[in-house]
Amino acid sequence: MNGEVSRLLSVENAKELLDSVDAFLFDCDGVIWKGEKLIDGVPETLDLLRSHGKKLVFVTNNSTKSRKQYAKKFHSLGIPVNEDEIFSSSFSAAMYLKVNDFPREKKVYVIGEEGILEELEQAGFTALGGPADGKKNIELKSNCLFEHDKSVGAVIVGLDQYINFYKLQYATLCIRENPGCLFIATNRDAVGHLTDLQEWPGAGCMVAAVCGTTQKEPITVGKPLTFLMDFLLQKYKITTSRMCMVGDRLDTDILFGQNAGCRTLLVFSGLRMSSISLFILLKVLAHVQFCHPLHFWSIHTLAISK
Ligand code: PLP
Ligand code: CA
Repeated sequence: MNGEVSRLLSVENAKELLDSVDAFLFDCDGVIWKGEKLIDGVPETLDLLRSHGKKLVFVTNNSTKSRKQYAKKFHSLGIPVNEDEIFSSSFSAAMYLKVNDFPREKKVYVIGEEGILEELEQAGFTALGGPADGKKNIELKSNCLFEHDKSVGAVIVGLDQYINFYKLQYATLCIRENPGCLFIATNRDAVGHLTDLQEWPGAGCMVAAVCGTTQKEPITVGKPLTFLMDFLLQKYKITTSRMCMVGDRLDTDILFGQNAGCRTLLVFSGLRMSSISLFILLKVLAHVQFCHPLHFWSIHTLAISK
């Protein structure tokens, strides 16, 4: 990790971490939940951090839901989280258009799911594609000429379970034939935990398909790129050196934290490295400041990089 020292979180440096951090940024899948299942100890950990006055923020690369839909998911899992504490890559994509003054009269073509469409609508943009094009086919005849809307000024690609030949051709023509058309990737994760037992193709392969047909590289708005960090900084007015990014992936979460200049904490509850959960963080912090019944949990599987 950039030659910096990585070390296991001990009781001593956990106290130092707690004292020196004002906001904890949590990755979602693999840290808060795994698919639809809450990871053990998460509510207690979050309550504990809130009771210490820490700001909590949730940053997910999964673009299939909007912030509103994520807030519902948090509530259904028994965790009260406000919509504006959630920073999803679907929100990030819409915000990218907003801050770059994307013209309202132009349209956005989406390879992706409901989350992106909802965020675009909320931000006041007109979207095409997404689930509506999920069942469209192209009948390839020798005189077939595929038409696309010339007013599309941006293509957003995220995870799309219903990606097909039609959508790929649409996105490709928009990017290749509409001058100045933006090509935005929500994220480039290779795989995602769409179900509990298995990993599935992630947005990365869908983005790669469009890179292949257009020979262009997208602007990526999810982790490990730091576009979202500007919003966090504006909202919380906390310097990044007093933030800690908690994640289960080095190539997205930890790199995001490092790219932004945050402290980083790697937990082993997500990627198939071990079954140790975020509860270890609670245990370590609790051991310092609380008499929590779980204080005897082992700490050796939690690493902290500074
Ligand atoms: N994208 C998809 C489609 C996913 O299913 C997941 C995780 O399940 C991710 C991205 C990664 O999400 P996170 O950044 O919350 O780990
Ligand atoms: Ca994750």
